[in-house]
Amino acid sequence: MLTIPLMLKSSFLFFLLLKTTVQLYLNIRNCKYVLKKRDRVPDKFNTKIGLQDHQKAQDYTVANLTTGRFFLLIDVALLLFWTLGGGIKYLDNYLFTFSYFSIQNIICHGVMLYLVFSFINMLLSLPEEIYSTFVIEEKFGFNRTTIKTFIIDHLKGIALMLIIGIPLLASLLWIMMKLGQFWWLYAWIFLTLVQLIMMWIYPVLIAPWFNKFSPMPDGAHKDEVIKLLNKTGFNYKGLFVMDASKRSNHGNAYFTGWGKNRRIVFFDTLLSTLEPQEVVAVLAHELGHFKYKHILKGMLMSIVLSLLGLYILGVVANAEWFYSAMNVTSFFNDGLSNGLSNGLLWPNHFYYLALITFSLIVPCYTFFITPIFAWHSRKNEFMADRFAAENADANMLISALIKMYKENASTLTPDPLYAKFYYSHPDALARVEFLESLGTRT
Ligand SMILES: [Zn+2]
Repeated sequence: MLTIPLMLKSSFLFFLLLKTTVQLYLNIRNCKYVLKKRDRVPDKFNTKIGLQDHQKAQDYTVANLTTGRFFLLIDVALLLFWTLGGGIKYLDNYLFTFSYFSIQNIICHGVMLYLVFSFINMLLSLPEEIYSTFVIEEKFGFNRTTIKTFIIDHLKGIALMLIIGIPLLASLLWIMMKLGQFWWLYAWIFLTLVQLIMMWIYPVLIAPWFNKFSPMPDGAHKDEVIKLLNKTGFNYKGLFVMDASKRSNHGNAYFTGWGKNRRIVFFDTLLSTLEPQEVVAVLAHELGHFKYKHILKGMLMSIVLSLLGLYILGVVANAEWFYSAMNVTSFFNDGLSNGLSNGLLWPNHFYYLALITFSLIVPCYTFFITPIFAWHSRKNEFMADRFAAENADANMLISALIKMYKENASTLTPDPLYAKFYYSHPDALARVEFLESLGTRT
C-alpha cells in the first residue's frame, strides 16, 4: 500500500532524479553547442571580438560546465546522505549526547545542529570553491584572489554566520515553537522585517567588511553619470567604486540599500574597461530596472513566495509522516513514546528538524519553475534596455555589452534551450539585435 511517507519519499526521489537529469542534459547540450560554435566568431560580433577571445570564452564556458557537472553529482550524493541516508539524524543524536544541549533547551540544541551542519557543508564545499577560484579562474586569467584573501573571506563568513545566524535562528525557532498554530505567519512577518533591515544595513555595515568602497572620483565618468541621474530624476545617496579587482577581473554595476543608504556601486573593473558614455548607458539600463520597479516587484514576489513556503512548512512540521519519510529523526523509528519519554513535546520540539529538512528538499521541487522566472527576468531586461536606449545611447550600450562579454569571457553562443531554461538575461545576439532596432529608430 502506498502510504503518505512512501509517497513523499518517492516524490522527493522522483523530482531529485528528474532535476538532476534535466540539469545534466542541459549542461551537456550547452557544452556540445558551445564547442560546435568554437571555430567562428558570430557575424554580428566579428569586427569587435577576435577569434582568440571568442575561443577563450567558449573554453571558459565549457570548463565551468564540466566542473559544474562533477560537483552537481557530489551535491546530489550529499543531499541523499543528509536526508534519506540519515546524516541529519545521526548528527542530531550525536549532539544530544552532550548533556549541555539538554532537551530542556531545545532551541539551543536546534541552533547548534544548524551551526554544525552549516559548518560541515561549508567544509565540503571548499574543494569546489578552491578548484573554481584557483584553477579555472586562474587558468583564464580572472583570478586576483590570493590565498590569504580567500582564507580571510571565509573566516569573515563564519564570523558573520555566528553574529547574524545565531540570534536569527534562535528567534525563528522560538517563534516556531512558542507562538501556537499560526507561527508561520509570525515567522513570515519576522523574516520579512529581518530582510528589510539587512538590505538597509548591508551596504553600510556588511559589504565594507569584504570590500573597500570609495566615493567615485571626479572626472569624465562621474560628470556623465551625474548628468544622467539629474536627467532621469533618480534619487540616490552616493556614488561608490568597489575594489572588485581585489578578487576578480569580472565587471559590474549595481544599486544597493534603500532610504538613507541607497547607493550606486560601480566595480572598479567596470570603470577601467568602459568609456564614460558606455558607463552611462549601463547605468541607464540599471535605472530602467528601477524605474519599472523590477527590484521592488521581485522583492514582493519573493515575500509572497516565502509566505507560501512557510505555510507549507507549517503543515509538514506537524506531520509525523514528513519526518519519517525523510528519515530525519530516530524517535519515530523507536516509537514516538521513546522520544517523548525523554522530555520532548510533539510536534513543537521537532520543528528545528522540519526546518532544516524542508530547506534541503524544497529546491528539488522549485527547480522546475526556474524557466518561468528566467523568462520573466529576460522580459524585464528588454524593458530596461529600452529605457537605456531612450535615456542614453543604444549604441553605447551595445559597445559596453560587447566589451563586458569579452572581458567576462561570456559565450556569445549558448545552446538555445539552455538559455531559455536558465538565462536571466537575453543572449548576446538577441540583446544586440533588440538594441540595434531601438537605436535606428531614434
Ligand atoms: Zn538588467
